[in-house]
Amino acid sequence: MMTKTAPAVVVLGENSVAVARKMMSVLPGATLYGLAGRTSEVDVSFTSFGETLRELFAEGTPLIGICAAGILIRTLAPMLSDKRQEPPVLAVAEDGSAVVPLLGGLNGVNDLARRIAEALNVKAAITTTGDIRFRTALLSPPPGYNLANPDNAKTFISDLLAGAQVKLEGTAPWLSNSQLPIDPNGDLTIQITERLVTPAPNRLVYHPATVAIAINHIVDIASVQQLLADAKLAPASVAGIFAPLTAATNPAIHAVASTFGVPVRLFTSNQLESLLSQGYSPAQAAAIAATGTSAQPITPSSSQIAIAIAPKPINPSTIGQPRGHLAIVGTGPGASQWMSPEVREILKSATDLVGYKTYLDLVGSLADGKRRHESDNREEIARAKVALDLAAQGRYVAVVSSGDPGIYAMATAVFEVLDYYNKPEWDSIDIHVAPGISAMQAAAATIGAPLGHDFCAISLSDILKPWSIIEQRIAAAAQADFVIAFYNPVSKERTWQLAQARDILLRYRSPDTPVVLARNLGRPGQAVKVITLEELMPAVADMRTVILVGSTQTRTIQRSNGSISVYTPRRYTEDKEI
Ligand code: SAH
Repeated sequence: MMTKTAPAVVVLGENSVAVARKMMSVLPGATLYGLAGRTSEVDVSFTSFGETLRELFAEGTPLIGICAAGILIRTLAPMLSDKRQEPPVLAVAEDGSAVVPLLGGLNGVNDLARRIAEALNVKAAITTTGDIRFRTALLSPPPGYNLANPDNAKTFISDLLAGAQVKLEGTAPWLSNSQLPIDPNGDLTIQITERLVTPAPNRLVYHPATVAIAINHIVDIASVQQLLADAKLAPASVAGIFAPLTAATNPAIHAVASTFGVPVRLFTSNQLESLLSQGYSPAQAAAIAATGTSAQPITPSSSQIAIAIAPKPINPSTIGQPRGHLAIVGTGPGASQWMSPEVREILKSATDLVGYKTYLDLVGSLADGKRRHESDNREEIARAKVALDLAAQGRYVAVVSSGDPGIYAMATAVFEVLDYYNKPEWDSIDIHVAPGISAMQAAAATIGAPLGHDFCAISLSDILKPWSIIEQRIAAAAQADFVIAFYNPVSKERTWQLAQARDILLRYRSPDTPVVLARNLGRPGQAVKVITLEELMPAVADMRTVILVGSTQTRTIQRSNGSISVYTPRRYTEDKEI
């Protein structure tokens, strides 16, 4: 299990929300979980505290409970088997007066506790003796260093506490500047090395993130592992997988990165140009660019892989660029409960949001801290180009549509642009479409089941297709006895189309055919009305209305409480038996 970085803050009552939000200011990407019925304005509502906590814990999410420590301990007790595998767990008092790290000592709980305590202006209740004494967390080293033998750490720290001296082999400023009792003749040793070594109880080994693996072609994971082993390098020292941008779509690169649990970083041809002109292979050039070393990289005869070692740990997130992602997401018609968890995750991860201002506003707090690229609703092609160009620079771009992104929306515009302009820079981008609930589905759900049999959707907008085609299509759909969902029925400039559509339909359908008018679904001012086909006029609809016209079989049910349901039976049959 990998410990995730963005924590879950869990609250049981509305009283705790203010403290939660305060500490979330120092916890980027954190999600606020609140007990349903007791809290509002949270990111995720849950009904079972125990199940939710255990699920988050099992997937390695750091947990911050604004509740009594005892509740957290009892809830998670059945899951505590391996301390190296557990994410940080902390209890915070409801009034923010105490921050108590409980679990996850090997995964940075004390650092997290200090960060939260600072935001709340209190002191963290750190109870780990070694940590206080040496002011350095040997068990959770800073980014860029991995402890190779945590199993030996407990005895090692006890020996230190009992007065043993320690000698340092290798360099690491966080150790040499600490208050450890350093002595070149010490009985204990801390070694910092990227080499494979055999640890021992009196020797702690830290592997610094200094090794860059660069790949330019299809390679198999075993050969990369073999190359490392031959060079006697520790896999824990691998800082990242590096590649020229042109190789970004090579799945082997991503597979190798996920095996090592490190990011992929890419270099543009400009960045590698001068190294290539000195005769280095693309893989060698990427390895050198990643580490800044002048030493010759380790390269097997195939020369599609190269390994270089940096003098200090490297932070891959500052080197080159990541692979660009373009997600085209549908947020549903409006309300947050109609947004899929996948879309929510994507919106959280994205660095850039592209879309019509109204749709970006609908995303609410999920848009906080992201770059927004707003535009007019009509500039779809320009917007798709902007999104692709941003993703080509390594950004994680979410193009936001309402409803479903593939139904009269941006996903199609992106693929049109991709097909038509076909820029080579766009080849490296990972493109993903995340579906949403379309207006016709939301409309149907609010009134019963009018789409219960065969149906089709027709946009009445004649901006992108001629009216003659629309006319033909309406007649054919009416003749085929489809239930029809009309999108874009009316706009300020387009008013006559709906009246014409009705007249065509009346040639095939009875005037009392049920028609559902659904306006502002999932948004303030939602209004759903049932009328008859002969009452369908342009004045009853606008740009925010979707219209469902029943088939010859569609029925309405008037219920005793005054409400109306509309449904289309699943079969054509004379007898009423179902
Ligand atoms: N991708 C969207 C459709 C965009 S076209 C989807 O799948 O729903 C725009 C049209 O969709 C509007 O003119 C209207 O007919 C319909 N629409 C979109 N959101 C709506 C909402 N919240 N309520 C009612 N109709 C909506």
